[in-house]
Amino acid sequence: MSRVAVVTGGTRGIGEAISLALKEMGHAVAAIYAGNEGKAQAFSDRTGIATFKWDVGNHQACLDGCAAVNEVLGPVDIVVNNAGITRDGVLSKMSFDDWNEVLRINLGGCFNMAKAAFGGMRNRGWGRIVNIGSVNGQSGQYGQVNYAAAKSGIHGFTKALAQEGAKYGVTVNAIAPGYIDTDMVAAVPLPVLEKIVARIPVGRLGQAQEIARGVAFLCSDDAGFVTGSTMSINGGQHMY
Ligand code: NDP
Repeated sequence: MSRVAVVTGGTRGIGEAISLALKEMGHAVAAIYAGNEGKAQAFSDRTGIATFKWDVGNHQACLDGCAAVNEVLGPVDIVVNNAGITRDGVLSKMSFDDWNEVLRINLGGCFNMAKAAFGGMRNRGWGRIVNIGSVNGQSGQYGQVNYAAAKSGIHGFTKALAQEGAKYGVTVNAIAPGYIDTDMVAAVPLPVLEKIVARIPVGRLGQAQEIARGVAFLCSDDAGFVTGSTMSINGGQHMY
């Protein structure tokens, strides 16, 4: 059955692969981006997927944005909270703005998007929310108290909202990716990246499509009994 899916940060990196995977499942996809017009336009030209621009950290923008998606594609059945940023630094050098911005976008974005879409899913008796966490939210990471806190928060948010959605056919799950070959990881200095890869048992970075396949499963009808879970896709880097 064709559904309407919103993928935040859906125009590049992991989000691009998720948008494509959901489109391949037959869904109408809205890919949300923050401001990189060039990447969004190229993505839209390449895939034919509709793009919408708003800041997921802005509560009203999420309410208005989902209303706009509703007008164009129909009621939102699937939300993938994938948009995320990093503002790394050790605590002594991290500004309050760097702390706040990562919490506002990475964790606040999940709340804002759930507020916009959860009620409709519950009323229609079917919904899927998938939140993209991180291995660094599970294990912590030097220089990332903001990012690790936000991503760890996503895992708690997922389990709590899953309990609210369960009896209405709305599942809420998380995926915790390990290091994936995207622009975000390309920003990590090469010597640091080499040390990271050396600690990944499968011996390589992950590919965005490997995360997208997990999201596609969690969004399917077949995953109706899976809720409140976190799927780790990390090449064996962290197991628990
Ligand atoms: P990228 O930096 O490659 O892409 C980020 C995407 O998020 C872009 O589409 C960007 O839009 C969008 N975005 C950023 N801020 C906002 C905002 N305020 N509102 C709306 N959209 C926004 O990221 P990745 O693909 O690497 O990561 C995707 C997710 O996976 C993130 O949540 C990240 O934390 C998580 N993750 C990534 C890992 C990795 O190794 N890459 C590992 C673990 C987790 P625009 O193009 O306009 O800038």
